[in-house]
Amino acid sequence: MSSDETITIPRVDDVEMHTQVIPAVRAVPLEDLAEIRAQDVSAWFGTHKVLDRVSLTMEAGAITALIGPSGCGKSTFLRILNRMHELIPSASLAGSVTLDGDDIYDASKKLTDARRQIGMVFQKPNPFPAMSIRENVLAGLKLTGTKADRHEREELIESCLIKGGLWNEVKDRLDAAGGGLSGGQQQRLCIARSLAIKPRVLLMDEPCSALDPTSTRVIEETMLELAQEVTIVIVTHNMQQAARVSSQCAFFLAAQGTPGVIVEHGDTEAMFGNPQDSRTADYVNGRFG
Ligand code: ADP
Ligand code: MG
Repeated sequence: MSSDETITIPRVDDVEMHTQVIPAVRAVPLEDLAEIRAQDVSAWFGTHKVLDRVSLTMEAGAITALIGPSGCGKSTFLRILNRMHELIPSASLAGSVTLDGDDIYDASKKLTDARRQIGMVFQKPNPFPAMSIRENVLAGLKLTGTKADRHEREELIESCLIKGGLWNEVKDRLDAAGGGLSGGQQQRLCIARSLAIKPRVLLMDEPCSALDPTSTRVIEETMLELAQEVTIVIVTHNMQQAARVSSQCAFFLAAQGTPGVIVEHGDTEAMFGNPQDSRTADYVNGRFG
């Protein structure tokens, strides 16, 4: 950091930025990864408007972090990206969401198309507790009607658990119940389950906020690996986490009594090191929220 730097960032200045971690060679070529773009997205619950004309391009193969205080619409925005918002009674929306240029809300598109291509991992790990680890990984296949023979299923289980960073811990007990795993393991099982249907985008809503620091780091490492093959969008309240894992960042804010907007977005390094808006500077430095 240069000596004439006026902004100090004590909460993040000791963390490695992700650009130093991502290997130069990708498992999946960048051109095969999907970009997801929101254009002028507004959202309502009944007459309560909670997002106002939010536009954001989440780059293919990048990890984009969505940050901002509670209640500013980050989860709502994420649910709009994979058509979960419309399942909430009273919810409505305007604007468009495209996956590699394809409108996911187009009348010709099925809800399940969006769900299959755009997976979601939630704050609270939600494996099927009575199902085995093996069955949990395969659970999504039934929902999407994907056929696989026994051999393909076993391969899929192994590859998804490896990608989810859980394989070594569970390979000898794949028939044990998912509910018997620790919280961090359950969350990685949920990641493995989302990967089994080969999504092009993985949405993660505060995936580590219920976990201890060690489990959190394991999931962050898993995410950095996964970004090789899937576009990731993560909501996090942890600024160090945003700095560690994301290359792109968007700061959401809802001023008193108004819907959420994106105040600023761009390279994570710039957002943390040299924010253009004073509200971003205040937030990333922990002065509110
Ligand atoms: P964040 O994830 O940033 O904390 P949310 O997207 O959860 O924000 O919430 C944005 C706004 O929408 C809040 O005012 C919240 O109270 C409201 N909201 C969220 N979910 C619902 C719902 N199911 N019904 C009604 N209002 C909701
Ligand atoms: Mg939320």
